[in-house]
Amino acid sequence: MQTIIQHSNDLKIAKHIANYYDFDMTLYDSHIRFYLNQKINLNNLRQKYKIDFNYLPNHFDFQKTALFISDMDSTLINIECIDEIASFIGLKPQVSKITAKAMLGEIDFDSALIERVKLLKGLDYGVLEKVYNQKLRLNIGARELIKFFKNKNIKTAVVSGGFTYFTDMIAKNIGLDYSKANFLKVKDKILTGEIEGKIINAKAKQDFLLELCNKNNISTKRVIAIGDGDNDLLMLNEAGLSVAYHAKPKVIDSADIIINFGGLDKIMDFFTE
Ligand SMILES: [Mg+2]
Repeated sequence: MQTIIQHSNDLKIAKHIANYYDFDMTLYDSHIRFYLNQKINLNNLRQKYKIDFNYLPNHFDFQKTALFISDMDSTLINIECIDEIASFIGLKPQVSKITAKAMLGEIDFDSALIERVKLLKGLDYGVLEKVYNQKLRLNIGARELIKFFKNKNIKTAVVSGGFTYFTDMIAKNIGLDYSKANFLKVKDKILTGEIEGKIINAKAKQDFLLELCNKNNISTKRVIAIGDGDNDLLMLNEAGLSVAYHAKPKVIDSADIIINFGGLDKIMDFFTE
C-alpha cells in the first residue's frame, strides 16, 4: 500500500483526484492523504494543480527523526547573501559573473567563493547588518517548523556555503542548535576580502552532518536534510531523508521529498500519525 500526501487541504481538488483514480482518502487539518496499490507519477498532479504532492516514504520513520539539517540561502531564507551584499555596494554584475561561471562548471565552488569574497575587500562590516535587516527574510514556515522540531526534541542545524554572520543571526533568531558557514575575516570593522579557516563547500556540508551524528550518537538514517542547490547534494545523499526545497533540477531528481509550491511547514505533514 502506498500513501500520497496532498500538501493542501483543498477538498475540491482532493475529491477530483480521488474520483479520477478511485483512491480512498483521509482528511487532516493541513493536508489530505490518498491510498493506492500502484504508484502513479506525481509530476502530472503537481503540474496540474500547482500544489505539492509526495509519497509518504516507506524507508524513513518520521517518529524517530533525531536531526534536521538545512542549507541557508534560498532554503531557510529568501536570498543568496553574497549576491545581496554585492548588490548593496554596486558589485552585483561582477559577482553574478563569477556565480554564473561556477554554475557552468567553469570554476569550482571554492575558487568562485574566494574570487567573490576578494571583491568584498575594504567593505564596512556594517553592510552585513544592513543586508540582514533590510533584505533577508525567513522563508515561509521556517519558524513554525523549527518550533515543531524543538517540541519533539529533534536537534536542528543550519550549514551554509555563505557566511557565519548570517547563520549565527538566524540560529539565534529561530533557536537552532548548531550552525556552520564561512568566516569572513575582518580587521578594524573592514572586510579583508579573505575567508578564515576551512571553506564550507559541498563536502564540508556532508562532513558537518556526519559530525553532528557522531556528536549526538545517532545514525544518519534518522536525519532529515534539506537544500536547494547542487552544493547540497552530498549532504542530502548522506541523510536518511532528503528534501528538495524550491530546488535546482539535479536536487529535485535525487531527493526523496519535493517541495516546489508550499513553505517549509509542509514538512510537518509527514509527521501526522
Ligand atoms: Mg541554497
